[in-house]
Amino acid sequence: MLSRFSSEYLRVRSVLKREWMMLADNYQRQINYLRISITDMCNLRCLYCQPKPETGWKFHQEILRYEEITRLAALMVQLGIKRIRVTGGEPLIKKDVIVLIKSLAGIKGLEELTLTTNGTRLAQFARQLKENGVDRINISLDSLNRDRYADITGGGNLDDVLAGIDEALRVGFVPLKINMVVMAGINDDEVESFVRLTLDKPVVSRFIEFMPISWQGISWDERYLSTHVLKQRLSQRFSLMAENSIWGNGPAEYYKIDGAVGSIGFIPSISQHFCDRCNRLRLTPDGHLRLCLGQEMEIDLKQPMRDGASDEELKELILQGVRNKPVGHQFQTKRPEGRGMCAIGG
Ligand code: SAM
Repeated sequence: MLSRFSSEYLRVRSVLKREWMMLADNYQRQINYLRISITDMCNLRCLYCQPKPETGWKFHQEILRYEEITRLAALMVQLGIKRIRVTGGEPLIKKDVIVLIKSLAGIKGLEELTLTTNGTRLAQFARQLKENGVDRINISLDSLNRDRYADITGGGNLDDVLAGIDEALRVGFVPLKINMVVMAGINDDEVESFVRLTLDKPVVSRFIEFMPISWQGISWDERYLSTHVLKQRLSQRFSLMAENSIWGNGPAEYYKIDGAVGSIGFIPSISQHFCDRCNRLRLTPDGHLRLCLGQEMEIDLKQPMRDGASDEELKELILQGVRNKPVGHQFQTKRPEGRGMCAIGG
């Protein structure tokens, strides 16, 4: 028998504890990644990402407070979440966002804290994010042309984002991922420019397939462009070498152009969806646990929490939700009509 103090006893106990802490759904997928949308509001109005006109923004009292977000996040970490991404809406427009970042970074057992931003306020916040525990940042940027950027984003200023990118690199967010949603006839003629960006900057330009989510100002059927078509096009211009060293929580495929400092990536969310490997949950700004990006099914955690649910009761609700995580999205046949991306957490 193992003595309670032998190193073997401690080793076995820690392995068992780790196994027990694994959060898995009914399809044996291990869930270890949580995206938290901390606000549904944004300072941009991207063509394809806006609240439904009839729904608008959530009222302030419906949105989780920072201590509520941290409590739910900490419970999920106790259950097996290892990585958290803060997103929105635009997270950097939230008042005192660094206070939240600090408390999330302090959650015991959390291995990685990341953030997704449109970059417009990054020049101001990059250093504080770095100093307060953010490990990596993704920036969303759909055009490198000033006028077009303003058109796509409803008036955004490209120079703010470029300044944000420079500052993020300066304070050490390297490599920096830049996510472009590729839309046929809107910005697909710029993919080569995004590839060229990687030649002398330590950035990873990632091309994301446009998804049909909620209300959109443009037609998905007309604007969707598959990764396959895009990759073929880029292969004619550049020699793409597979790259396996990029760290991330998702299913992107990475390549490098010969001699480039940075890399490129493709995220084929529609054409080769990765639902069988899905490892994520989402917490919406109003405190619902969203089990799948493309399915409306959610578990309300805010109301029970505000009604006084204990930590154990909340954990049980989370576990029940995870067990019922849908097998996958059905974007091709059944589009989620409810929340827009900003109120889900992209
Ligand atoms: N404001 C932050 C930002 O811009 O990165 C975070 C929230 S935004 C909703 C997160 C990401 O979702 C952005 O990269 C955006 O381009 C992406 N997104 C929104 N709607 C999308 C759609 N229909 N298809 C693909 N990506 C989408």
